Amino acid sequence: MVTHPNWKRRSSRAERLRADHPHAEELLLFYSQILALQEPLYVKARRSKWVSLVRSTASEDGPRLHLERLVGRTRDVLFQRFVHEAGTVSTDVLARIAEQVASRKGTIRTLLQTFLSGGAFDDLAVSFDCKPLPLEFFPRAFVQPIAEAMSEQEMRSDDNGPGSTAMRCPQCDWPPLLAVLRDEPEFKGRKLLVCSLCSAEWPFVRSRCPSCGEERPEQLQHHVTAFWPHIRIEECSSCHTYLKSIDLRLDGTVVPVVDELASVELDLWADEQGLTKLQKNLLGL
Ligand SMILES: [Zn+2]
Ligand SMILES: [Zn+2]
Repeated sequence: MVTHPNWKRRSSRAERLRADHPHAEELLLFYSQILALQEPLYVKARRSKWVSLVRSTASEDGPRLHLERLVGRTRDVLFQRFVHEAGTVSTDVLARIAEQVASRKGTIRTLLQTFLSGGAFDDLAVSFDCKPLPLEFFPRAFVQPIAEAMSEQEMRSDDNGPGSTAMRCPQCDWPPLLAVLRDEPEFKGRKLLVCSLCSAEWPFVRSRCPSCGEERPEQLQHHVTAFWPHIRIEECSSCHTYLKSIDLRLDGTVVPVVDELASVELDLWADEQGLTKLQKNLLGL
């Protein structure tokens, strides 16, 4: 049972969207189960002193969090339990990977270390006889709530006017998952990018591709459908990538990360147009 407000909001939204969008039902049901496993990790991380391990020092440039420093026995034990529990609610493919991870000595640490250091999963995936994406699902789903808890504790206000041109999260250095548009006291329709790992938001200039920096208006287009009127696909014709931009001014009940995941038909459409998503979501879509 999910009770923390941040996670409750996601869980309730997933339930609501499941009723309204039957084709995304299975996906949202799985996501709800993962949320229930993530919440205790978030709560534990908020109560822990782990942030002192990952906080960047005054002499370090770059992101504020160095998540690679989370590698350690406590997280190994938690990750092992998480893989087991996630495996029991997963699809066959994920369940098989979870079983293999559990049965091979040392894999827990390797998987977590590879993820936290931003390494590629290709070689590991070969040894698991699976694709890299489903293998990466486990450490990503595990680290996400911990990264969110760390990020909230280290949050600083970056009031840089209407928006920066930073293409990666200033907190943890991951790429954005989506953009939101919101009215703020000083900026109407402010655009913020939302981190795909720690969920931090940072203001971003409105007409610019967050993947390649393209700013020519004729290269930047957006597409909207009747099914998801508050979500638009923002396409860049220069680098052929897209991300979803969610207009929070149109619907106050929206929870961006959940709506992003549920609007899977927009990803299918974008894929048919030959576009690549800037950053896939937790479920690999
Ligand atoms: Zn981040
Ligand atoms: Zn671009």
